[in-house]
Amino acid sequence: MTSAASVSAGRGPEPPPGAALAVAPGALLRRLRQRHATDPVTHVERVPPRAGVPAPWPRWAPEELRAAYARRGVATPWRHQVEAASLAYDRQHVVVATGTASGKSLAYQLPALATLLADPRATVLYLAPTKALAADQLRAVSALEIEGVRPACYDGDTPRAEREWIRQHSRFVLTNPDMLHHGVLPGHAQWSGFLRRLAYVVVDECHVYRGVFGSHVAHVLRRLRRQCARYGRTPGPTFVLASATSGDPAAAAGRLTGLPVTAVTEDTSPRAGVTFALWEPPLLPAEPPASTSAPPPRRAQGTVPSAWNAGARPATDLPLDVAARNAGPTLSTDASPAGRRSPAAGEPAGPADLVQVRRSALRETADLLADTVAAGVRTLAFVRSRRGAEVVATSARRSLDEAVPGLGDRVAAYRAGYLREERRELERALLHGDLLGLASTNALELGVDLIGLDAVLICGYPGTRASLWQQAGRAGRSGQEALAVLVARDDPLDTYLVHHPEAVFGAPVEATVLDPANAYVLGPQLACAAAEAPLTAADLELFGDGAKEAVAALVEAGALRQRPTGWYWRHRERPEVDLRGEGGAPVCVVEAATGRLLGTVDGGSSHFLLHHGAVYLHQGVSYVVDALDLDDGCALVHPEEPDWSTHARDVTSLSVVSVRSYVDAGPVGLFLGEVDVTSQVVSYQRRRIATGEVIDTRPLDLPTRELRTVAVWFTLSPESLALAGVNPADVPGALHAAEHAAIGLLPLVATCDRWDIGGLSTAVHPDTEAPTVFVYDGHSGGAGFAERAYGMAAAWLRATRDAIAECGCEAGCPSCVQSPKCGNGNNPLSKPDAIRVLDVVLANLPR
Ligand SMILES: [Zn+2]
Ligand SMILES: [Zn+2]
Repeated sequence: MTSAASVSAGRGPEPPPGAALAVAPGALLRRLRQRHATDPVTHVERVPPRAGVPAPWPRWAPEELRAAYARRGVATPWRHQVEAASLAYDRQHVVVATGTASGKSLAYQLPALATLLADPRATVLYLAPTKALAADQLRAVSALEIEGVRPACYDGDTPRAEREWIRQHSRFVLTNPDMLHHGVLPGHAQWSGFLRRLAYVVVDECHVYRGVFGSHVAHVLRRLRRQCARYGRTPGPTFVLASATSGDPAAAAGRLTGLPVTAVTEDTSPRAGVTFALWEPPLLPAEPPASTSAPPPRRAQGTVPSAWNAGARPATDLPLDVAARNAGPTLSTDASPAGRRSPAAGEPAGPADLVQVRRSALRETADLLADTVAAGVRTLAFVRSRRGAEVVATSARRSLDEAVPGLGDRVAAYRAGYLREERRELERALLHGDLLGLASTNALELGVDLIGLDAVLICGYPGTRASLWQQAGRAGRSGQEALAVLVARDDPLDTYLVHHPEAVFGAPVEATVLDPANAYVLGPQLACAAAEAPLTAADLELFGDGAKEAVAALVEAGALRQRPTGWYWRHRERPEVDLRGEGGAPVCVVEAATGRLLGTVDGGSSHFLLHHGAVYLHQGVSYVVDALDLDDGCALVHPEEPDWSTHARDVTSLSVVSVRSYVDAGPVGLFLGEVDVTSQVVSYQRRRIATGEVIDTRPLDLPTRELRTVAVWFTLSPESLALAGVNPADVPGALHAAEHAAIGLLPLVATCDRWDIGGLSTAVHPDTEAPTVFVYDGHSGGAGFAERAYGMAAAWLRATRDAIAECGCEAGCPSCVQSPKCGNGNNPLSKPDAIRVLDVVLANLPR
C-alpha cells in the first residue's frame, strides 16, 4: 500500500530535513498531560517495538526484479511478503492483511511483475479505492523501471487521447472500481485483448470495500471475472488483495471476490515502539441551564465554531453519513443547546438539571497539536470530519501564532475533497518539515505515503479498531519511539473505550462486513452485467444468492427480456448505478465570481452542507452558498465570513415493512426486518459562533429522500417498564436515551460507525403498538449492521447499559445518552430510566 521505499529492511523513510525529534514520547506525554488540573489520561499502553523477520527472495523471483528492488533500497523482503507473493505466484488467490507500512505492495508487485517478465503478453489490473492511491502506486511501479511493463493509470483524469494507447500497450493498468464499473466493463470489447491476457487482479486496501459500497464492488469484480471468461481467459485471473489488519480477512476477501482466498496475516515487518495514551477531556464545571429557550452560553474558550451541530431534528436520529461527513464529530465539540433535561418537565431545576459537558475533543486535539508542534514534533491529527479537521488546524494555528507569530504557518488541514495539487503540496511540505502539524480526515488512510511521524493524535475513536491501528501506524520512524493519543469525544462509545482499555488493546480487530446478496445492490448490478452482455444461467451462479430472484424481478420490471439464449437488457442506455450508494454523484463547489472549483462534497451530504445560505469552509476560508443546483450537481458560493454557523435540520418518519426474524422474550421482543424511512432537510439554523445563540431558523425547499432499509428493534411491554420503576411520563425519555447510547455502541459489534446508523424511539409505534426502539442501517437495502446487531443483541445492549451506568455525569451527557445528531434536540432524555429499560431487556433476552 505504500511505495517500495517503505518496505526497505530496517530503514524507515529518511528523517525529513529540519525535523529533528526533540522530545521522547514519554516526556512529551508528561508535558501534554500537565495541561489540565485533573489528569486526562485514563490509560497508557506501551506497544513494544518489533524486529523484522526477513526471508530470502523466492527462487522464482527473477534477478532483474531483485536488482530493481535493491536499487529502490529493498535488499531483502520480509517473510510475510514472500509468503503472500509465493502463494500468488502459484496462482492461488491470496489476501495479505498486515499493518500500515508493512510492505504489502511488494506482496503483489513481485508475482505480478515476475509474471509480466516471464510472459511478454500477460497483463495486470490494479484497483485502488482512490485515484490518489493509484497514482502513488504508479510511481512505485514505474520507479522499478521494468522494461515492457508500461504501467499507466486509467481513470477519470486520463486524457482521451491516451486511453487507446493504454488499452493497447500498457500491461499494468492502475484504476479504481468506479472506473472499472463505468468505463472498462461497459467498453469491454475495446479491452478484449487485455482481459484475455489478464494474469492478476490486485485489489489494494480491500477493507475499504465494506457495507453497501463493498457489496457493489463485489459484483463489479464478478462482472470483471465474467468478461475475462467471455474473452477466453480460463482459468480466470488470480486475485491478490491487500488489506489493513482485519478480522477474518480470508472470509471477507472471499465474499468480495466470490473465490476461495488464502490469508497471510502475520506481520513480519519491523515496527517502532509506540506509547499509546487514552485521553479523556475533563468535564467542564456544570452550568445551570439557561432560563429561556435560548441555548446556554458556550464555554469561555469557545473560539472553535462550536457550531456544526447537526441540530435538532424531530424525533429521530438520522444516520446518514450525511451527518457523518458534515457535522460529524464536530458535533461533539459542544453539548447541543438542548442537551439538558427540559425544565418544562415540571420539576424545579435541581442539580440534575445542571449542564455538564466535557471539553470538546476538537479543542483538546487542537491544543495538543499546537503543543506538539511547538515542541518541534512532526504530528498528524486525525479528525473524523472535514470541518473538524479545518477547525483543529485553524485553532492550532491561532494558538501558535499567539505564542510565536508565524509559527501557525507550520500547521495545515488536509482532506479528500481537496484538489489533487493541493493535497500533493501538503504531503510534500509535511515530508520536508516545512509543515510540522497536519490535521486530516481519514483521507490520509488512503493513498498517501506519509509514515514515520513522531506523534499521531486521533480525535475521536475512528469507528473500528482496524482504523485505529491504521491511523496509529502512521507514527514511528525506525529506531525512534513515537506517541499516539486517542482523544475521546463526548460520545458513549469513546467513553466506554477510554475506560475499558481492554476493548481497545485486548480485542481482535473487526471483520469487514459486506453483503453481496443485498437485493438493492444485486438487481442494479445484474442490470449492468446484462447491458454488457446477455446473462446466462451460468452467470447467475457467479452472482450468487438471490441472483435468480433479482433477474426475475428485472424481467418483471421490463428491464430484461428473457430469450432462449439468456436475459437481454432492453434499453438503449446503460443502467445508471452508483457504487457509492445512494449518496449520489459528488456536488462541485464553485466560487461564483471566478468559476474556480474549490472541491467536491458527496451527494448525500450536499443537502446538509451546501443548501442555500450554508456556511462552507475550505482550507480555513469561509464561503456562503448562493445556490445549490442538484440537477447540475453544483453549488455556487462566494467568500464571506459571517459570525454565525449554519446547521441543517431534517424530519424523519419510519414504518415497518416486514419482519425477517424475531425473538419472543416474554415482555420483551427483539426484531429484525425491513423498514421505510422518509427524511427531508427542511430548515437550517443560524447560530452565533461565539455563543451558540440561535439567530433564526430558515426554511429550505429540498426534496424528500426515501430509504428502504433493514432495522433491528426491540419492544417492551408497558407493564414491564412500570414494574421496573419507569413512570409512564418518563418512558419516552428512557427509550430515547437508550436508543442514543445503543447507536453509539453498535460499532463495538459491527464494522460501522454511528453515522452509518439511524434510530427512532417512541412510547407507542403504530406498527408495534408498544414502546419501541429502532436502530436502522442508513443505506438502501441495509448494509449488514442492523443484522449484526440483531445477532449480537445481548452483548451489544450489555455494553450499552454499562456505558451509561459507568458515565460519571449526573443526568446524562454526550458521553453517554446525548447524541450529536439527535433529531429531537436531545429532548426528552432520562439517563436513570434508560438503564432500567436496558435492564428489563437484558433480563429477558436469551444470552
Ligand atoms: Zn454521561
Ligand atoms: Zn435523539
